[in-house]
Amino acid sequence: MDALDQLIGVLAKLPAIGRRSAERIAVRLMTDPARKLVKQLADALQTADRNIASCRICGLLTERDRDPCRICSDPRRDRERLCVVEDPGDVLALEQSGAYRGLYHVLGGRLSPMNQEGPADTTVDRLLERVRQENIGEVILALNTGVESDATASWLKHLLEAAGARATRMGTGLPVGSGISYVDSLTLQRAFEGRR
Ligand SMILES: [Zn+2]
Repeated sequence: MDALDQLIGVLAKLPAIGRRSAERIAVRLMTDPARKLVKQLADALQTADRNIASCRICGLLTERDRDPCRICSDPRRDRERLCVVEDPGDVLALEQSGAYRGLYHVLGGRLSPMNQEGPADTTVDRLLERVRQENIGEVILALNTGVESDATASWLKHLLEAAGARATRMGTGLPVGSGISYVDSLTLQRAFEGRR
């Protein structure tokens, strides 16, 4: 495999980038005057790799020297509400929508009944532990739509209620099969208000 193919192959693994986009990005990078963009991209990737970690409480992406993250350590956040998301990227969309002012918990996956796989036990255990210890009144399941996310939501609801929390699911209005990160702010606000 030559170097250009290799670059295109790696780029095509990124979310929302198909083969054609990967080709266009690769060509753009390699024809950039003095390869300035290549250097900036390489620097930004290395810096991010060195400095970004997961918050030890909620699992959000944070600077290594800011752990717990800025949301977990913000005294103005509503500490009686916990919003469970599948992916750290979902939090960016929810924060941008301004629909929510509570805390988060990143699941890092979902239950797949077909192959008996679920999110890592540790993140679920940590979620239940937070619910028991942090005086959480409501846990909002802000999961994506689709069969596996639905299965994950019912399974979590059961566990959360057994742990003594009120579990609600973000309401309708989210397009079927869609990820939260792809939905606009207004739709997210409505889905939050319509939770049940
Ligand atoms: Zn955090």
